[in-house]
Amino acid sequence: MKRLFLLMLLLVGAVATEPVQSGEYFATERRQMVKDITEMATNTASVTGIGKFASLVLEAMEEVPRHEFVPREKISAAYKNRPLRIGHRQTISQPFIVALMTELLNLKGTDRVLEVGTGSGYQAAVLSLLAAQVYSIEIIPELGEAAQNNLRRLGYANVQTKIGDGYLGWPAHAPFDCIIVTAAPDHIPPALIDQLKPNGRMVIPVGGFTQDLLVLTKRADGTTISETIVPVRFVPLTRD
Ligand code: SAH
Repeated sequence: MKRLFLLMLLLVGAVATEPVQSGEYFATERRQMVKDITEMATNTASVTGIGKFASLVLEAMEEVPRHEFVPREKISAAYKNRPLRIGHRQTISQPFIVALMTELLNLKGTDRVLEVGTGSGYQAAVLSLLAAQVYSIEIIPELGEAAQNNLRRLGYANVQTKIGDGYLGWPAHAPFDCIIVTAAPDHIPPALIDQLKPNGRMVIPVGGFTQDLLVLTKRADGTTISETIVPVRFVPLTRD
């Protein structure tokens, strides 16, 4: 009798969790996440100067399965418009911030992009749908390796990752059309400016506890200009 009861409980459990696992359930959640991002873009337009994200950016956000990039126990929160802890005191960024930074990069399909701070690999996956090639560096080996395996498993073939200090960029693949930094240094790393192509763009949070999200553009003559977009809070860029 006890065993039958247990079996019934297990069956009920299976039925109850099944919809949460299904692709259709996540597709609905993802559409809602894109709606939330779109609404936040409208509400923050006076600060960011961007009221609406490009449809290609929103399509990429609607396509990438964020639930595959968060820890299993956080899967039910995967499509909430907020950051989540991914272990090692690091976070996967808030979806709105991922969309905003992607928008600010203004990617072309032929671009080669460098990302500093692979983390979960989610931002890299979003970038990979809009660029030709993504190179992403992570300083914490366990995170970088997990992200690499996950990106491969999910078929993001144009993302290459490595473990290392992104402050130094990735000279072997430089120069880049675009650079995105998803951890905050207190100054713009000079190597990253060097590794940016003329007319290239870098999106980077710079500061201490809170930071300014900057868009730096390298002019054809090598000089740079930067524009402050919005205050943000990223984990600090650490060094080896
Ligand atoms: N882009 C990530 C979010 C990353 S959080 C995502 O989509 O999930 C920032 C990441 O930057 C952390 O994983 C942190 O370990 C990493 N990081 C911090 N300093 C770094 C450095 N000097 N070089 C490379 N990665 C760094």
